Amino acid sequence: TVGMLAVDGNGHIAVATSSNGAVHKISGRVGDSPIPGAGGYAVGGVGGAVATGDGDTMIRFLPSYQAVESMRRGMSPRGACRDALARIQKVRPGFFGALVCANTTGNFGAACSRHGSFTRFTYMVCTATACPAAHTISCE
Ligand code: ASP
Repeated sequence: TVGMLAVDGNGHIAVATSSNGAVHKISGRVGDSPIPGAGGYAVGGVGGAVATGDGDTMIRFLPSYQAVESMRRGMSPRGACRDALARIQKVRPGFFGALVCANTTGNFGAACSRHGSFTRFTYMVCTATACPAAHTISCE
């Protein structure tokens, strides 16, 4: 999945996702990517989130929605990403996925759920001063 968040200086935010879907998907499967709140979600003046990973699980937990609501209540983008994934891990310990979050005041962060060889996650950020800048995090 490719997920993208775009934030302007006036608090506007948009998210988009594009995915070829899960490996060995069944014909006609709709993954998380096109489902608002699962693959991506944004609220103007608050923030947005985009997800990648096990879409069949994420459809049930709506991690993008959860993260944006947490940012609305004051959580940092990284904290909101971690919290949304932790809620899934609590129920599905083997969950595989990552979430990138940004708020509309210019802060961003990400989190990923460790699974097998998936121990680190890299995402790219463009700001007025640096573009692109790679950020790599360790999965938990
Ligand atoms: N989330 C996608 C899906 O389950 C897969 C991916 O992120 O690569 O369809």
